[in-house]
Amino acid sequence: MPRAVVTGGAGFLGSHLCEELLRRGWAVVAVDNLLTGSLDNIQALRAHDGFEFVEHDVTEEVNVDGPIDAVLHFASPASPRDYLEYPIKTLKVGSLGTHNTLGLAKRVGARYLLASTSEIYGDPLVHPQREDYWGNVNPVGPRGVYDEAKRFAEAMAMAYHRAHGLDVKIVRIFNTYGERLRHHDGRVVSNFLVQALDDKPLTIYGDGSQTRSFCFVDDEVRGILGLLESDWVGPMNIGNPNEFTVLELAENVLELTGAGSEIVFEPLPVDDPKVRRPDISLAEKVLGWHPEVNLREGLRRTYDWYRRERERGRV
Ligand code: NAD
Ligand code: UDP
Repeated sequence: MPRAVVTGGAGFLGSHLCEELLRRGWAVVAVDNLLTGSLDNIQALRAHDGFEFVEHDVTEEVNVDGPIDAVLHFASPASPRDYLEYPIKTLKVGSLGTHNTLGLAKRVGARYLLASTSEIYGDPLVHPQREDYWGNVNPVGPRGVYDEAKRFAEAMAMAYHRAHGLDVKIVRIFNTYGERLRHHDGRVVSNFLVQALDDKPLTIYGDGSQTRSFCFVDDEVRGILGLLESDWVGPMNIGNPNEFTVLELAENVLELTGAGSEIVFEPLPVDDPKVRRPDISLAEKVLGWHPEVNLREGLRRTYDWYRRERERGRV
């Protein structure tokens, strides 16, 4: 049975990855310090024989005994609200955490998959974004802590590939949402759905003309594991290329939920990217991957989850 280490395994994406790896017959060791993750996310997995949870901060040396076939480094604050609250922890998990997990993969001869991000492209001047675009990032702005940590992590991973021959895959993830997205993490999909659930105003930052391309978590996880199982080395965009303005997202949420919420406009955060949309031709060509869940369906499934969480008293 192949065995994977998933850092950030108690987070939103990490917990879905652990679940799908177990379903595909992997044994999984989830390593997480619970900074922005939760044991609730992996409660159902803990009964599984092949699942192990280790509470640990990966900016400290990472030691896992036994054979390991793959290391997936997903630990990092990911929501703008979180990385602005934890700027130094974000820089450390992207740099020291990446170094430690690369060291683990090298020691045991495992393949390595790094969770990178569309933020690599910053406020992009090329649209849509292809993997060969170098980006437009403000290194000293508030978002720089996340963007530069991930850019450093990508550089470090490629250096391990070139210097040590490590099998390295880098997934550039574009705005992903779905069940287990923390209700108060400040991201736009969680904010709008929970605001609609509460019949509270939907908060649009700026005039709502900025765009994002939202990928449902099941599609994202299928793409990530496709990349893990492929021979590809280096970065690959995995995201949904259907692009929406934030205003269109708000309208979709209101229509879907039937909420009577009004829309209010608040200041745009510093360096908020004006457009974002992945060019996924590489993933289509190499993996035969493309997303299958449209925004309507994904929002409905996520909204139903928040409603169930509300009934359990967890939202
Ligand atoms: P999340 O906050 O739900 O998960 C991150 C997890 O990492 C949490 O469980 C947290 O406790 C853990 N963590 C943070 N610092 C740690 C440390 N030092 N040691 C051990 N664990 C630590 O966020 P997510 O959305 O699931 O993001 C997971 C990964 O995917 C991140 O690397 C993020 O940058 C990347 N990503 C996500 C998105 C998205 O849209 N969800 C987009 C781009 C990139
Ligand atoms: N946003 C918004 N209202 C909110 C939360 C976010 O208008 O309540 C906007 C935010 O300014 C950005 C987009 O929605 O333009 C996506 O924000 P998110 O925090 O989800 O992630 P980002 O893509 O910026 O990393």
